[in-house]
Parts: sequence; C-alpha cells; structure tokens
Amino acid sequence: VALCEAEAAPPAHSGPGAVEPRFNWKLFCQFLRPHLLVLGAAVVLALGTALVNVQIPLLLGQLVEIVAKYTRDHVGSFLTESRNLSTHLLILYGLQGLLTFGYLVLLSRIGERMAADMRRALFSNLLRQDIAFFDAKKTGQLVSRLTTDVQEFKSSFKLVISQEGVTLCDQWTVGWPPGGQTCGLGLGLRSFTQVAGCLVSLSMLSTRLTLLLMVATPALMGAGTLMGSALRKLSRQCQEQVARATGVADEALGNVRTVRAFAMEQREEERYGAELGGSRSKAEELGRGIALFQGLSSIAFNCMVLGTLFIGGSLVAGQQLTGGDLMSFLVASQTVQRSMANLSVLFGQVVRGLSAGTRVFEYMTLSPCIPLSGGHCIPREHLRGSITFHNVCFSYPCRPGFQVLRDFTLTLPPGKIVALVGQSGGGKTTVASLLERFYDPTAGMVTLDGQDLRTLDPSWLRGQVIGFISQEPVLFGTTIMENIRFGKLDASDEEVYAAAREANAHEFITSFPEGYNTVVGERGATLSGGQKQRLAIARALIKQPLVLILDEATSALDSESERLVQEALDRASAGRTVLVIAHRLSTVRGAHQIVVMAHGRVCEVGTHEELLKKGRLYSELIRRQALDAPPPETPR
Ligand code: ADP
Ligand code: MG
Repeated sequence: VALCEAEAAPPAHSGPGAVEPRFNWKLFCQFLRPHLLVLGAAVVLALGTALVNVQIPLLLGQLVEIVAKYTRDHVGSFLTESRNLSTHLLILYGLQGLLTFGYLVLLSRIGERMAADMRRALFSNLLRQDIAFFDAKKTGQLVSRLTTDVQEFKSSFKLVISQEGVTLCDQWTVGWPPGGQTCGLGLGLRSFTQVAGCLVSLSMLSTRLTLLLMVATPALMGAGTLMGSALRKLSRQCQEQVARATGVADEALGNVRTVRAFAMEQREEERYGAELGGSRSKAEELGRGIALFQGLSSIAFNCMVLGTLFIGGSLVAGQQLTGGDLMSFLVASQTVQRSMANLSVLFGQVVRGLSAGTRVFEYMTLSPCIPLSGGHCIPREHLRGSITFHNVCFSYPCRPGFQVLRDFTLTLPPGKIVALVGQSGGGKTTVASLLERFYDPTAGMVTLDGQDLRTLDPSWLRGQVIGFISQEPVLFGTTIMENIRFGKLDASDEEVYAAAREANAHEFITSFPEGYNTVVGERGATLSGGQKQRLAIARALIKQPLVLILDEATSALDSESERLVQEALDRASAGRTVLVIAHRLSTVRGAHQIVVMAHGRVCEVGTHEELLKKGRLYSELIRRQALDAPPPETPR
C-alpha cells in the first residue's frame, strides 16, 4: 500500500518544522486551459489599454506646448490649432474606457468560472478523503479553504491581469503585502507594458531623465520586494489563523445545543475571541508592515517627481528641453510611478493569491488511501454474507501508538445474529468501522465471503451490502422522503413507504401535517431521538442490505421508543447477517452468538446460556448490570 498522505501527516496543524507545500502550477494550468482563448482576448484588450495610455501623455505634452505658445505670443486661433489634438485625445479616452470595460468583463467571466470549477473540484476531492483525514481536521478549516481561499485566489488572478482599482476594491484591505520573489516582472501585463512603453517614449525626449528614472525605480522596487518577502510569511500565518478561528465558530454553531446545555456560551466566546485575537494581532502586524511600506514608497515616489522636476527644470533652463517635453515627462513619470506602485501592490496580492492557491490545491491533489470505488463486486446471487475478521490489529491513524484491536478474530455466519458486548471504549465501534471500511486494518484482514474487503468495491460494499445504524443517527436538513431515499437514490415512493413501515416509522410520519414532505431541520433537529432512529433504520433498510450493523442503536432511547425501534430491528434482522453492538445486555439475549470483547480481543464466545454457565466475564457483566439496573432501592 502506498504511503498515505493523510496518515503520514501529523494530526495537528503543521508546525514550523513542516514542509511548506508549493503552489501547484500544473493543476492551475489545467483550470486555466478551458479559458485560454478568452484569456488571450482579455490580455490583448489589456495591452491595448496600456498602449493607449502610453499615447496620452505625449499628446498632453503637445497640448501644453500649444498652450505655452499662446501664453507667450497671442497670435492665431488656439481653438483651430488645438482642435485636432483634443479630438484625438477624446477618442483615445473613449477607446481606453471601452477597452477597460471589455477586458474587465472577460476577466470576471474567467475568474468566476475558474473559481466555481476549483470549488467543485475541491469539494469533490474533500468528500473522497479517508475518514482518518476528517478525524484530524476541523470542518470549519476545510470550509474556509472552499470559500475564503478560493475567493482570495480568484481576486489575485483577476488583479494580475487587470491591475485595476476595481478589483482592489472588493478586497477587504486595499494593498496587501508587496513583494515576494516568486513572481517576476512579467506579471501585471498592463503595468509592465505601460512602464516599458513610457520608458521608450521618454527616452526619445530626454535620455538623461529616463536614465534617472530607470535607475531609481528598480532600486525602489528591489527594496520593496525585500520587505514584501517578510510580509508574505506573515500573510500566510494570518490566513491560517483566520481558518482556525472559523473552525472554532463552526464547531460552536454546529453544536449549539450542547453549548447551550452546558451554558458554555461564554467559554466558546472566549475560545473564539482568543483565536480571533491571534488573527487580529497578526493582521495588525501585517497592516503595520504594509503601512510602513506604502509610507516609504510614497515618499520615494514623490521625491522622484521632485527630482524629475528639478533636473528637468534645469534642463529647460539650459534650453536642452522644452516646457512641453517636461510636462510629458511629468505625466509619463506619474504613469510609471502609478504602475510601479500598482505592481508592488500586485506583488503582494500575487503572493497572497499563491499562498491561498497552495492551500486550495493542496487538498485537491491529496488522494485517499481507501478509494471510493474500484475493485470487484460479488454478484448478488453468489453473495452469502459471511464475514470474518482474521487476526486483525488496528490503531487509529491519528493515534498510531495506541492499539485498539489486537489480534482480533471473529466470524459472523451468514443469516445469523452476532452480538458484540464489552466495556465502553473497548473497540466495538471500531470493529464496525473496519467492516464499513472507513479504515483498513493495520495487520490481518477482514473478508466478505472469503474475499478480502480491500479487493472489493467500497461503494458497492457500503451502498448495497452493508446497512449501518448507529447510536446517533444523522439526518440531512431536507424532507423525510429524501432522507429515506438517501439509502437508495432511485427508490420509488412505494419503496420508501415500505421501508418506513418496516422501520415502524410510517405511522408517526403520516401523523405530521405534511407527511413525508416534512422538513426535518438541520441534522434532523426537529425530531425526537426515537423518530430519528426509525428514519435512519428506514434509510438503511431501503437498500435491502445483506449485512446489518447495529451500533448501540437503541441505547440512546427511552423505553417506549426503544420498544418501537427494537421491534423494527428484530423484524429487519431476520434472514440477514447482523452484528449487534450493545452495552445493555438485555437487548442481546436473543442473539445466536454473543462475543465478549476486552482489551481489543475476543474473550468469550457463546450463547447467553453457555456464557452464563461459564461464569466468567459475561456473567460478571450481567451481574453488574443487574445491580445497576432497575431497583431504585439499591443505591450505588
Ligand atoms: P466502543 O465502541 O467499544 O465504546 P470505540 O471503538 O469507539 O469503543 O473506541 C475504541 C478506542 O478507540 C477508544 O479508546 C477510543 O478513544 C479510540 N477511538 C475511537 N475513535 C477514534 C478515532 N476516530 N480516532 C482515534 N481514536 C479513536
Ligand atoms: Mg461505540
């Protein structure tokens, strides 16, 4: 078996020593490929905008030249002389607006489609992960990758191409850490073209001034990049911290009943507050860094304007440059300055986008150890439903040092009911999880009709062979009908009714005003425990499973619902291979075989009478429960 990433990863979040995942360019290209044509068009439009922008300062300079001429000597008509130029400028402005509109539309189209594709792919891959993966992760953190990180990545992507304030505005902070060595000057096409174009046109005006510009700007950029790389790390930590805070909030809101029942609102508030405080101070630190950077760059760029004016002015005074040329220079150097500033903001955004993208792609490429499907199915007519655990050892991936099952051997004969009893925490549910193939055994194997479960198709196994009913049934927040149909998507209404009858649920369902169309609330919160359990039984029975696992199915219920549920379970158990897990021994008396577990091993096997006669563990358990159980006059 290949080394599994989920297993290899430490259970907690990655510490400082962990290898930083890298941005997956290959995957990114895959997402980009369907949009290449549109992207090409957007890039062309953006380049066009930049080219138009280059033209504008030159024309403005000429206009100023005309104005200057008229301030010196007032002959001729200013209007006729400037009309051509003004019309030209107006056309360029219009063109610029049109092009900007065009490429922004195209970009948002690409961005949104890519984001949706990425979310879909990430969600689908998350759903495919091993159960062990979810043992180690908080749902809130996973959800934050689906939402915040994809959003962040999309914004950066759009910004890289468009470089516009429009995109900046939908960021919650304008201007993120600038710098980062991973992105070259080639990004931010528009700015780059603008800068290059301006430099060319400026060098035609004055080489000396252009040289000054060309030396000063990259020097400033370099300094900014250095600062940026420090801020980049901070930004990543910041994102992780935000995800942690989301995780805490998600947990508390998702389990609000428990929080309420323990009056733990304040503690949850504090927990959330603490995580929030962490992310706030990180973000503030980041903000200070950014502020410092922007303050410094503002000073630097203003000094450049002053320098241009100063040197340019002396050139004008020495008659080496006309006033109009100087004007062109100033406007152009403003453009360069703005573009450079944008580029440095962009650098930061790219960095942030890359780290968000890394987080998104990380879970997109993670492959589970236990695939969802693949392997063969045993045809229904050959299926007997005999299950054997052969010397199974098992420890949970997130707690590798702790062995839950040791050399566990057990056979479930076809069509018989086997009860598994033992102390709480003894590993009974673990046995059921191995049978469902939520995990694979560390050693030994589990077989169905003599075939190793690892060679069988897991989806077929879970979807058609095994019905699993647990102590805490989880329903989805939709109608009763759909909840039952969850067990078999193509079931007809008649099949749903039949399953509900078999599960003793039909009566209470039809007593609701909306019957089968009643919406059960999130996680089935609007139903009683017994009702939920009977719906869960109906959901399991509708797939007509050959093997039934009942993990403490009645232990959370009051005695009246227990009777109803037990009745349904007894009916459902007939003719199936059944594994009943229970700690209340009275419920397993009728089993064909009772297996007593302790310390991860099978200790005793036999029928109720045989085990009582043996007078060992089982009879001890019976004796203890009899003491605990009904008579109120025997206090412990
Ligand atoms: P039982 O169902 O008999 O009460 P379980 O099979 O649920 O016991 O648990 C057996 C042992 O495995 C317990 O010590 C429990 O703490 C541990 N355990 C259960 N589930 C997990 C899990 N997902 N990850 C790590 N350890 C677990
Ligand atoms: Mg259990």
